[in-house]
Order: sequence, then structure tokens, then C-alpha cells
Amino acid sequence: MPTTPRLFVSADLSAGRAVALDEEQSNYLLRVLRLGAGDEVRLFNGRDGEWNAALSAAGKKAEVTPVSQLRLQPPPASPALTLLFAPVKKDQTDLIVEKATELGAVRVVPVLTQRTQTRTVRLDRFRKIALEAAEQTERLDLPEIAEVATLDAALAALPPGTAVIFCDEAGDEAGAPWGGEAGRAGPMRAVLNGLAGRDAALLIGPEGGFTGEERAFLRGRASTWAVSLGPRILRAETAAIAAMALWQAVCGDWG
Ligand code: SAH
Repeated sequence: MPTTPRLFVSADLSAGRAVALDEEQSNYLLRVLRLGAGDEVRLFNGRDGEWNAALSAAGKKAEVTPVSQLRLQPPPASPALTLLFAPVKKDQTDLIVEKATELGAVRVVPVLTQRTQTRTVRLDRFRKIALEAAEQTERLDLPEIAEVATLDAALAALPPGTAVIFCDEAGDEAGAPWGGEAGRAGPMRAVLNGLAGRDAALLIGPEGGFTGEERAFLRGRASTWAVSLGPRILRAETAAIAAMALWQAVCGDWG
């Protein structure tokens, strides 16, 4: 038996209080999954934990009525992971949003850096991708998809005390002021070992990487650590996924 379908709804969830589903969700349950009255679905809204609910249908519109609570709403993730990323090509950017959701980011911020090619993004599409990924990945909350911001604004908007982990693909250009041993980007795992328990924001650049000016600004910034993700140049989406996975393994909720 495939797992019971999970749906995010915005309504409050309590036993016996029916929730009307929108057309898209009704169509998904009634036509795509071909469910009918009495079938079970699971609901979450980011506030009231997860409930199993009974489906009822009236024509094309479906209603679900919570029956019993399956999981309590956990406290907000702590430490919390924010992903700051420069949008890249559409499919790769969609992948980054989906993987950030699966990898437990609480906030995803599209950041315009000097070499960012994709300057406009569809936040409604990101929010739909994040919602569907949250349903699939069994999260009990949705990541916040923030408005596009410049690098300065995105950094300034971070909660105080957040450790900025700047993934720097060119951390060891010997000739640069930040090159050599003094400014090298440290191996990420070693850097994370010193940041246990701290909220973190991972910063991933665009296809063109960071400019020397951005690198110098970031390396001169308090609460900011430059890290290397190894000797190979990773695509932005690979770097984002690898860095988020490593953070979860060392600092986050992977135990
Ligand atoms: N223009 C660069 C590639 C940028 S890759 C070049 O071709 O040299 C996009 C982003 O992924 C980078 O800005 C950085 O944030 C991250 N990244 C890729 N490889 C990395 C590595 N080995 N170490 C740290 N960050 C890396």
C-alpha cells in the first residue's frame, strides 16, 4: 500500500473540523489518486502537527476532516539552516529549492550577486516546489521562500548571531590578498566543527562565481567563514546540496 497521501493546508487542524480543499488538491485526490469518500489522507499546516483525516467529496470539491493527531508540531529547528543562493538556470534553480526543502532549510533566499545571470525569479513557483517537496519529505513545516535580495541586504536580514558560511570556489588563489594560508577557505567540515549549535546561512554563488571584490568583502565580514568544498569546482546546485548535507550531518538534525 503506497503511503497515505500528505497535503499541506493553511486551515487550523482539529478533530472533526472539516477543511475544504482547493480545486487542485481536490483534483489530485479524486482524479489522480482516484480516492473516494472515507479514504484517508494526512494533513499538516506548519502549526498543528500532522493529522490523519477522512476524505469526503461533493462533486469536484473534496473535503477532509481531521480524525486524530499523528505527530505533534515540533519546536522550530534549532540550530536553523538558511540557504542564500544566486539563482542559476531555471531547472537547476528549481532543483536547489526542492533539495533545500528536503535538506531542512528553514529559509531559502535568492541572492543577486555581481555575476548572477538570472535576475528575476518566480517566487510563486518556488513556493509551489517547496510545498510539494515538504509534503513528500514528511516535513511538518514549509521553508520560508524570501524575496530576491542583493547580497548586502540578504546578509543584513539574517537573524543576529547567524554564522555565514561562504562557499568559496577560489579560496586558494595564492596571489590574492585572501589567498595563501592566511585567507584560505578552510575545509568545510573543520569549520563546521567550530560552529556547532549556531544558526547558519550557507552562501552559494552563481555560475560565474564570486568577484574578487565580493570575496574580499565577505572575508572581511564578522561572523563569516570561507569554506572549501574540495579541489573540484562544483556546479552551484551540487555545491548547495553538498554543503547543506554536510551541515546537517555535522551541525544539524542528522544525528
Ligand atoms: N565560476 C566558478 C564556478 C562557480 S560554481 C568557476 O568556474 O571557477 C558556483 C558556486 O558553487 C560557487 O560560487 C561556490 O559558492 C560554490 N562552489 C563550487 N565549487 C566549490 C568548491 N570547490 N569550494 C567551495 N565552493 C564551491
